[in-house]
Amino acid sequence: MTHVPEGHPRYLSLKYREKIAEGVKKGLTAVEGIAAHGRGETFDYILGERTHRFAWEAERAAVSLMLLSKHPVISVNGNVAALIPEEIIKLSESLNAILEVNIFHFSHERVLRIKEEIESYGGKILADLDATLKGLESARRMVSSKGIFIADTVLVPLEDGDRCEILKRNGKKVITIDLNPLSRTSRMADITIVDNIVRAVPNMIKISEELSSYSKKELEDVLASYDNRKSLAQSVEVIRDYLTEIAEKILRGE
Ligand code: ATP
Ligand code: MG
Repeated sequence: MTHVPEGHPRYLSLKYREKIAEGVKKGLTAVEGIAAHGRGETFDYILGERTHRFAWEAERAAVSLMLLSKHPVISVNGNVAALIPEEIIKLSESLNAILEVNIFHFSHERVLRIKEEIESYGGKILADLDATLKGLESARRMVSSKGIFIADTVLVPLEDGDRCEILKRNGKKVITIDLNPLSRTSRMADITIVDNIVRAVPNMIKISEELSSYSKKELEDVLASYDNRKSLAQSVEVIRDYLTEIAEKILRGE
């Protein structure tokens, strides 16, 4: 990032774009991951690139659900490994959740590379892919018998809609982090965090520090007061209002 000064208005966006490019070069991220990242960036742009209240509440509900779960698992793909390897390890530790490599554009080399990357930061991660979820034939459904296969709750950041559906069909509670509130994944998940993963995961680490002292009942209360439909609808309304505001500014010549 030598050529982009920190004061540049797109500094963070360019920094993470470079991390994705680096991830592809290191064999962690699929080429298709670049397109997925670009789609995410677009939605982040029209959300004003910040964590909104609805996202913070979804993050609190997600942490509560993970802490209440018997066997919570965090799914790690090539974009997650490229963007926030250290933070995802930290989150798994504070939630007592297992990390598992799970990638959509499958290759054994990439699974191994992601595992090595996480281990290079001192994390532990499953990558056995020795069990099969029931579901759509077309999609990849290989998982670890010690991880997603027996999980009651799975946090799947940046997930594809088909795979989210398979997890649901197999009786899992699904939490997703997805900047696109219109995606099938966002619409299907039990908890949808419409926020950039680079903000959502550090937020969830902070929240888990607070919530780790909560009783089971208190965590259940946080969860019960959360309404995913409402949160998702709010994210679309925030985008609508933001765009209306910009349109008005354009008309005023600002
Ligand atoms: P779906 O299959 O659920 O309808 P899709 O086909 O539009 O979604 P995929 O490529 O399958 O998209 O999934 C990637 C998702 O991850 C996209 O919706 C994108 O908005 C989101 N995404 C990409 N980068 C980030 C990021 N840094 N933080 C949060 N979400 C992201
Ligand atoms: Mg998709």
